[in-house]
Parts: sequence; C-alpha cells; structure tokens
Amino acid sequence: MKSWGMFVGGQYRPAASGKDFPVINPKNGSTIAKVAHGEQADVDAAIAVAQQASSTWAAYSGARRGDIMHKAAEILESRLPELASLEVDQIGRPINEMRAQLARLPEWFRYFGALARTQEGTVPPFDGHFLNYTRRVPLGVVGLITPWNHPLLILTKKVAPALAAGNAMVIKPSELAPITPMLLGEIMAEAGVPDGVFNVVTGFGAGAGAALSQHKGISKIDVTGGTETGKVIASMAGKNLTQVSAELGGKAAVVLFPDVDVQQGVAAALFASFIASGQTCVQGARLLVHESIHDQVVAEIVRRTAQIRIGDPLEKTTQMGPLVSARQRDLVEKYVAIGQAEGAHLAAGGQRPQGAPFEAGFYYEPTVFTHVKPHMRIAQEEIFGPVMCVIPFKTEAEAVEIVNDVDFGLAASVWTKDVARAHRVAQAIQAGIIWINDHHRIDASSPWGGFKMSGLGRENGIVAYQAYTQIQNIIVNLSSEPFDWYADDGQEKRYS
Ligand code: NDP
Repeated sequence: MKSWGMFVGGQYRPAASGKDFPVINPKNGSTIAKVAHGEQADVDAAIAVAQQASSTWAAYSGARRGDIMHKAAEILESRLPELASLEVDQIGRPINEMRAQLARLPEWFRYFGALARTQEGTVPPFDGHFLNYTRRVPLGVVGLITPWNHPLLILTKKVAPALAAGNAMVIKPSELAPITPMLLGEIMAEAGVPDGVFNVVTGFGAGAGAALSQHKGISKIDVTGGTETGKVIASMAGKNLTQVSAELGGKAAVVLFPDVDVQQGVAAALFASFIASGQTCVQGARLLVHESIHDQVVAEIVRRTAQIRIGDPLEKTTQMGPLVSARQRDLVEKYVAIGQAEGAHLAAGGQRPQGAPFEAGFYYEPTVFTHVKPHMRIAQEEIFGPVMCVIPFKTEAEAVEIVNDVDFGLAASVWTKDVARAHRVAQAIQAGIIWINDHHRIDASSPWGGFKMSGLGRENGIVAYQAYTQIQNIIVNLSSEPFDWYADDGQEKRYS
C-alpha cells in the first residue's frame, strides 16, 4: 500500500509529527493508501514556503502565467484516466460520472489562463491634471479548503483563478479524498508553476483546516463545505480580517410545470437527484410537481428509481456507487427515519441494498419520499444523499414560495416550454444558479455560488478572478507647478 507525504514546495514531505491516516475505499471499506497527517506545524511550514514563492509567481507577466496554465491543461488532459480511477477509489462515484466530470477540468485552466493574459486595468476619470489608473495585484498567499464530493473539480475551480491572478496557495483537501489534489500539484509543477506556489497539507478540518483558517499569513480563505463549517471558518478568519469566500450547502428544487413532457420531467428529476448518489451541493433534493401531472410523474419516478443499477463504481455499467463513508450513510439513514416519523410516504428505496457485494461498502438505495410537506425537516435540511422529496403544487406563486422557503439559496431548475413563465419564475427564485430546462450545468465562465446560507462570493467567471486580486489605485500628478501648502503666498489651495 502506498504512503503519501504532503505536497509542499514541489516535493512530498512527511508530517512533522510523523503521523499518517488511512484513505478508505467506500465500496468495500479497504484502505487504499496512507497519507501524512498534517497539523499546525505543517500548515506553518507550508505557509512559509508559499510566502517565499509568492513573489516569484506574482512577478511573472499575465501572459507567462497564461502559457503555463495552458500547458497545465494539456498535461491534465493526458492524466485524466489515472485521475478518474483514483477519484472513484477515494469517493465511490461511478467511473462514467468521474470521466465526464474530469474531462471538463482543462477548460478551467484555459479559461483562467486566458484571463491572466488579457486582463486590463482601468483609467477612471479624475478631475484636473492627473493620470489615474488601477491595476489588479495578487492577494499573496491564499488558503483553499475543499470537500470530498468533487475533489478535483472543486479544487480546480479555486486553483485556476488563484493561479491566474498570481497568488501562491496552501490547500487543505478533505481527509476522505486527499490524493488527487496532490497529483494536481505534480501537474502544475510539470507545467512550470514554481515550487512552493501550490502546496497541499493533508489532514483534518479541526487540525490543519482550523490552523489554516486562522493563520495570519493567509490573505483569503476559500472554502467549499457544509454551512456550519463555513460559519466556523469565517469566524476564525474574521479575527485577522482575512477575506472569505464560501460555497456552502444547498437544498435545490426542481420545478416541473404542467406543460412538461412526463418522461422528460422524470429523467430530469432522476438526474438532478441521484447523480453522485445525491452528494452534490446542487442536488435536486426537492421535486416540485404540478398537481395535474403529479401522479403520473410519481409513478414513473418510482418505477425508474428501482431500475437504477447499484454496484461496483469501477464497472462501466454501474449507475450508482456507495456513499462516501459510513458516517454519510448513517446521516442518510437518520433522515429517512425522520421523514417517516414526519409522515412522508416512503415510495422507493429507504434501505441498504441487500446481498454480499454490498455488505462491506457504504451503499444505500436511491430513495423517494412523496406526500412531503414543505416545512418537514427532510424538505428543509441538507441530507447530502440519494433522497428525493416530492412536493405537489397548484399555482406558480405557490411553487415560488415553496422554493424560496428554505435557509439555502444555491440553485434551482425550472422546467417548462412557456418562455415567459420560465424567466418570471427564474427571476423570482432566491438562488445564485437557476437552470431553465437543465440541471447540474456548469462552465468555467459562469458565476457559481449561493444566496442566503449557501455562501459568500462566487466561483467561476471574471468575478472569481477579480476576487483573487486586490485593486491598487495609482494617481499621477501631471503638473510641473510647485505646490506648498504652508507657503504664505495668499493663495487658496486644494479647492479642486
Ligand atoms: P465539510 O463541511 O464537512 O468539510 C469541508 C472541508 O472543510 C473539509 O476539508 C473539512 O475537513 C474542512 N473543515 C471541517 N471543519 C473545519 C474547521 N473547523 N476548520 C477548518 N476546516 C474545516 O463538508 P464535506 O466535505 O462533508 O462536503 C459536503 C458539504 O459541502 C455539503 O454541505 C455541500 O453542500 C457542500 N458543498 C458545497 C458546494 C457549493 O458549490 N456550494 C459544492 C460541493 C459541496 P475534513 O473533512 O477533512 O475534516
């Protein structure tokens, strides 16, 4: 079994304590690797390395950074098969899902590499004999804290803009999926990113994650995780006035209006709810169905849910793998019991799949609750598992009210052929990402993030690049006239 150090300063290093922890394959509970257990001392060391490297990277021109990022995209592309199967071993998502997801990642390096090359400053108007201009400069060293559900995608969404803007970084990946983030470091190094710009401290949230969040050497912390984690990290960072960007939890709704083709609506709901075993922040956890098609949609969803093939995530025919951990499965089981106690009707799933292949892994059947009331806990709280809550509605206004009546505001999808209704509803929903007749669609150029308790700031797009910079304003006096405030010359000064 392979032992991994932490990727710091361009090489793998053991933890200062010499300790490590196991990485578990969720399909059978086996240990796939041991990884260095980083803590405060390792975070301190990694930040010192990053601080040394940051001025070198910041001094590269945008064009040079852009070229290196384009090279990184090519190398990443060539290593995708290896990365995809490692992601499957770490988190249990089916290989087809991981291949599709990782195939998109080079786009992020190309998009943000292009931004690094083409970003321009501004020349705001300034009255009088002045040249006034702004430039965007890097923040310095940034801390990136990432979850396990899309280990490389989420990391890439942070790394690409941070690098493009000229920052060095210390990354704390989830302890459940720490290996592929380090391989991304190897790729960056091969592409020409100087050693020490991309560093990974593997460890746990309460140790390495907290040490990073409260470190004075960090200019910004960018976290993706649960809402409670986001609050804890933001409060630690706040003590040093460290900037915070946070992509947090969600309870996305899928809204099916009566003109939707039933089969298409069902396919939409299944994809939105069950991809990644429901372990995505934009999971279509609530299915709002117009009462006129409700019974037909429910019957078809129940039929098709039972047909989803659960199995070994490395098999190409598998449609649903295990959940990431025993803890995550316990959580899903807890919420299924809550749903039943609240009076929702368990229409499909609701148990572990039976049989020898599933016994050692953390499998759970895709589950559908019907007769769900909007105020129930299963319809309000993030479950982060393969649980769909079906809620009927009568009017457009009622649908919007239900969609908005949660603490979260990350995403929603609206399904209808009525163009006016689609936009009207989209604009009335309090969420950062709205799809019309689609779900789970993402692009490097398209801002991603939540309203309300779903987060702060945005990933992707020019805004994400800008959020990894700070503005410097330079005001140049073009006059050669002498100026002396204290001279007794009887002149009125600084009136304009
Ligand atoms: P967690 O909140 O448990 O953890 C996220 C990261 O934060 C992990 O690296 C974790 O470390 C670390 N962490 C935990 N506690 C602390 C702490 N006190 N100080 C510093 N770091 C800490 O989330 P999960 O990994 O379970 O991921 C699932 C969550 O992520 C869901 O709520 C989901 O909605 C959200 N998410 C949001 C997305 C978005 O775009 N808005 C996208 C994807 C997921 P460790 O786990 O190693 O202990």
